[in-house]
Amino acid sequence: MRILIVEDEPDLLASLAQALREEGYAVDTSDNGDDGLFNAEGTDYDAIVLDVMLPGLDGWEILKRLRKIKKTPVLMLTARDQTRDRVKGLDTGADDYVIKPFDLAEVFARLRAIIRRSTNKTTNLIEIGQVKVDTAARQVFYLDKIIELTAREYALVEYLALHRGVVVTRTQLYEHLFDENDSSLSNLLDVHVSNIRKKLGADFIITRRGHGYCIA
Ligand code: CA
Repeated sequence: MRILIVEDEPDLLASLAQALREEGYAVDTSDNGDDGLFNAEGTDYDAIVLDVMLPGLDGWEILKRLRKIKKTPVLMLTARDQTRDRVKGLDTGADDYVIKPFDLAEVFARLRAIIRRSTNKTTNLIEIGQVKVDTAARQVFYLDKIIELTAREYALVEYLALHRGVVVTRTQLYEHLFDENDSSLSNLLDVHVSNIRKKLGADFIITRRGHGYCIA
């Protein structure tokens, strides 16, 4: 999953980005409204964390313009005294909001929820044959045993599981699993796929030559 954070407070932006990366998300950041809109329009993020008060375009304006072309799930960051703004946000097309100062755990939970809704899943548990993916705990089970996956491997399994039955192209995977800061080495999709097959069974991820990967 690839997330865009638009936030102008440097400390908050850095800590949020780091925390989300530790959770296994690919994260891009913008520290002003114009750059935020540019990124939001140009890349198919799985979700956007959007601050309201920003230099340049504010969060509402970004949301309004984005909604004309994209349904990307948006989590607004609002201040405690912006109650009326929250209603406005949900009217404008925000999917949810958190109030500053917030708990990281709450941001994670709300992000998971809006991403899950956008993929039309109603539960946190995806069952595929002998494999179970718990998207809330970010854990994968094979034959009811917890399987240790790296953050990248988990992200790949989760993305394919959420798009089960659909062939996901390599380009799509690169766009959703890796961010601007990833080195080319960590981007070796084939290596991740091969490692996942060793852990979850050789036929868990199917390769469609010339097209991409699929979980049937
Ligand atoms: Ca701000």
